[in-house]
Amino acid sequence: MGASLEQLYDMLEESRDELIELTQALVRIPSVNTGHNSEPPWSASQTAGEFAEPIVPYILQGNAATGDELPCAELLRDKLAADGIDSTIYHSQEKRANITAQLSGGNGPSLLYMSHIDVVPVEDESQWTYPPFGAEIHEGRIWGRGAADMKGTVAAETMAMILLKRARVQLSGTLKLAVCADEESGGAYGFGWLAQHYPETITADFAINEGGGAPIKSGDRLIYPINTGEKGRLEARIYIKGRGFHASQPWKADNAIYKAEEVIGRIREYEPEVSTAHELFQHLDTLAGVDREVTDENIDEIIAELWNERESLASFLRAASRMTLVASMIDGGVKSNSVAENCLITCDVRSLPHQDSAYVQSEIEKICDGIDGVRVEVIETSVPSASTFDHPFSDHVMSATKKTVQRTIGREDIEFVPGITVGFTDSSFVRPLGNIAYGFTPGHPDADPSKSGAHNINESADIESIITICRFMLALAFETGIAVEE
Ligand SMILES: [Zn+2]
Repeated sequence: MGASLEQLYDMLEESRDELIELTQALVRIPSVNTGHNSEPPWSASQTAGEFAEPIVPYILQGNAATGDELPCAELLRDKLAADGIDSTIYHSQEKRANITAQLSGGNGPSLLYMSHIDVVPVEDESQWTYPPFGAEIHEGRIWGRGAADMKGTVAAETMAMILLKRARVQLSGTLKLAVCADEESGGAYGFGWLAQHYPETITADFAINEGGGAPIKSGDRLIYPINTGEKGRLEARIYIKGRGFHASQPWKADNAIYKAEEVIGRIREYEPEVSTAHELFQHLDTLAGVDREVTDENIDEIIAELWNERESLASFLRAASRMTLVASMIDGGVKSNSVAENCLITCDVRSLPHQDSAYVQSEIEKICDGIDGVRVEVIETSVPSASTFDHPFSDHVMSATKKTVQRTIGREDIEFVPGITVGFTDSSFVRPLGNIAYGFTPGHPDADPSKSGAHNINESADIESIITICRFMLALAFETGIAVEE
């Protein structure tokens, strides 16, 4: 027995409702990852003495209590089992669950479908048009937290594996699926945990994950960005020590909050080094019709020219060409009638692939230079990483996309550009294992990616894009030579 890609596409057409229902079932499970808690890392009793050290990095304290991905993992386990696919659920913590499965059929190449099952919180439910965990369908979209980021893809990947099994496609290699916890807080309990404890479950020649693939339309042209790398994410904590005093005679204190004001002002003024080293910047002709050579010197001018017409692209190019540093939390003082002795400014930092934590540390120390009582601590939550675009995998991805778009809208003249993810994805955990990992989940060519509302109110996924991603996953299994046409 066996089947061709065309036959699988036909099977998928017949299974559309099944895929949509699987997405809805996943969205209805509130696997909310609250991540950081806002507890300051010192307690009131400690502030009287020497400057208190944080006891446990509070990123980790926050993570441990949230997520609750287990019901989603169990749902996927049962779904796979119904088609005879065995899976394994790995608990990284109580209620934190990662699920893996595989289809093997020979010593040929291996491909990993990656996704995460946790979602970011819903802040104010009253602002949502449809209930955030209702998974209601309106205007051809599934509405709810996690629909776009990224339960639609979880369902599409799972369904692709199920269809390959159902069609009894002959396999010459191994197809792996890993749906993990905790991506929204840096992945320490998800792919990071699996990479540490069960790396064999997520090691493959090729890996495909979120991060790229939203179609870009430029006139008649249809362009898909394939994200080959991502920036690093670091958290910088700037501890500012002053001297407390009774608030009735504030001049006798050295107010840590006022010192923080100076530090914050300098952070706002900081001008990071500009770099156009990523191969993305050699493709701005395709991406944005830029007809001159792009350099470190002229990129800001190009961004300024693009800003009016194509703001989201211009903003992305700005983020891709420099480190970002932004103050994102502030804690200071313990009592309203005492002048603050301590203040902590927490910054989010996104570094370029060539910038390590020592570089970030020295940049922030330079910013704080000359202000006494300041200590900088930089914590790396994810290292920047990149896979090369000049690799057979990019040919497989491009060819699978052409087949997908051909089947979807009868068109094959698509262009591709390598991209960089300016946020974090789990790909950074699998690249060190040797996987060539790309962020690429190609939506429907006519989809408007700006409607997804990921991490925002009214998040939604358009159903045609979920179907398109499933088509792509099927095509990729054939293009990589893991599934064999008969
Ligand atoms: Zn995501």
